[in-house]
Amino acid sequence: MGARSCCWPLGEPGEAGFRFCGADALAPKPYCAEHAAIAYVKARDRREDAA
Ligand SMILES: [Zn+2]
Repeated sequence: MGARSCCWPLGEPGEAGFRFCGADALAPKPYCAEHAAIAYVKARDRREDAA
């Protein structure tokens, strides 16, 4: 234990049921493998859109 937990938000902030993923995060990222991949794809798509 001692690993960081994924802070990917699930649901809508302020609504009941909102929570963070909580899976083991992959340092130095604040997200687990699944959510780090999503975050990476989103950032890459933006760059390609702008180009
Ligand atoms: Zn996650």
